[in-house]
Amino acid sequence: MHCTIGVDLGGQSVKLAAVDETGTIRVRRQAKVDAGQSAAFLTRQIIDEIWQIVGDARTAGLEPCAIGMVMPGYMDPERTRLVFAANFPTLNGTSFLADVKAASPLPIEFDADSNAAAMAEYRFGAGRGVDRLIVVAVGTGIGGGVVLNGRIPRIRQHIAGSLGHVIVNAKGPRCKCGARGCVEAMASGPVLEALAARLADEQPSSRLASLRAERGRITGVEIAEALAVDDPPAVQAVAECGWWLGAGVASWNVIYAPTKVLIAGGIASLGEPLIAAVRKGFAEVGQPTMVPAVQIDRAAFVADAGVIGAAALAMPDRD
Ligand SMILES: [Zn+2]
Repeated sequence: MHCTIGVDLGGQSVKLAAVDETGTIRVRRQAKVDAGQSAAFLTRQIIDEIWQIVGDARTAGLEPCAIGMVMPGYMDPERTRLVFAANFPTLNGTSFLADVKAASPLPIEFDADSNAAAMAEYRFGAGRGVDRLIVVAVGTGIGGGVVLNGRIPRIRQHIAGSLGHVIVNAKGPRCKCGARGCVEAMASGPVLEALAARLADEQPSSRLASLRAERGRITGVEIAEALAVDDPPAVQAVAECGWWLGAGVASWNVIYAPTKVLIAGGIASLGEPLIAAVRKGFAEVGQPTMVPAVQIDRAAFVADAGVIGAAALAMPDRD
């Protein structure tokens, strides 16, 4: 059976998978990555892992025909050189991609990980066949991919703009990118956690405050637990961050006119209360005639979006 190989290189690990034409993972591998290692070391490690997964797939009776590899960061227009990858300082500006390509056992293509997640949803997930799809991953930062009629528009550094850095609150706090009031500065995972912590301070008898007293922290896990029992600080924090994401949807809508927006990443596990808040923000901020035309939902893929999307990018009829 034919398959393609997906490689998802993140700051802490590399995931590899042989994925069939239905989007099912047939064989997988995962290895720890130390992003502090030299470019030569990392290049060698990734090449070794790629040869391993191709061998594993063949042993399992599969016929891998191409490889898609994704990572965070910006690539040059030919996608052969990493212009900037915040997680991999030693790789910036090096011939890493070209070196991996030269040593690859199969044809290989590279892309940004945000595009992979969007392609995974478009080919196999909650955005299957949607003509104008946006997939927004909310975690430590906010990244997103756009798929228009099955193609990834490539406007700036070969991604479709930077959805997380669309400005929704021009007098708001500074974002890490230097601009003010980006969606990322209003609604990312760390922003949600900080807001929840502040609200827990104000409401010391809340469930969230007692969870923090027990565990010494407020992360997404504690927020989800408190949210499940309608604890006011958790409910309020999720409503606030979700609302700002909805304001982001209103801005993305003006640019891309999506028919569907999917929320992915760690924050999506907060489920319906978050999605409801995103819808509310969009309904209150967006152009009224456009609001009913956009469906907002959770993405289908959680942990495997990157690797499945990378494999999808290497499948025939990719952009
Ligand atoms: Zn920003």
